[in-house]
Amino acid sequence: MKALINIDYTYDFVADAGALTCGKPGQAIEEKITSLTKEFIEQGDYVVFAIDVHDKGDEFHPETKLFPPHNLRGTAGRDLFGSLQEVYEAHKERENVLYLDKSRYSAFAGTDLEIKLRERGITEVHLAGVCTDICVLHTAVDAYNKGFKIVIYKDAVASFNQSGHGWALGHFEQSLGALVK
Ligand code: ZN
Repeated sequence: MKALINIDYTYDFVADAGALTCGKPGQAIEEKITSLTKEFIEQGDYVVFAIDVHDKGDEFHPETKLFPPHNLRGTAGRDLFGSLQEVYEAHKERENVLYLDKSRYSAFAGTDLEIKLRERGITEVHLAGVCTDICVLHTAVDAYNKGFKIVIYKDAVASFNQSGHGWALGHFEQSLGALVK
């Protein structure tokens, strides 16, 4: 059994005016990430939207020192970007669709993602979203350590950092044994 983990494809991370945007590389994957998501949902596979959430002025969160405020709880910055939001809205009531708040880079950190996957007998995680070398990478590393098989869609991940993006694609394949396609 497989699941698609959709990571942080939100307004703040993708739109030109987003608070911490990948910009054009992020916008360029919209069609691929949306079609992939639709395909997984329609064939009955589990689809998890693992979306960063922060509280305004959270002095204890390590990202507060590293990045400008982004994906703040209750703001439009957390809306999924473009056509992905429409696909989510159309299918969000289905039992194979989960919206999961995460507060760290990895979708596994401090969430019940692993339990949700294990109870469904899922052994293979497919990853898409942003940023390739931050949240996608950290989620992939955790998936590797927990023994999941990993598939990465190179046309459905993006970063603001092109050398980081390229490095991470190599790392997925060479160090995490992922299928990068
Ligand atoms: Zn964050």
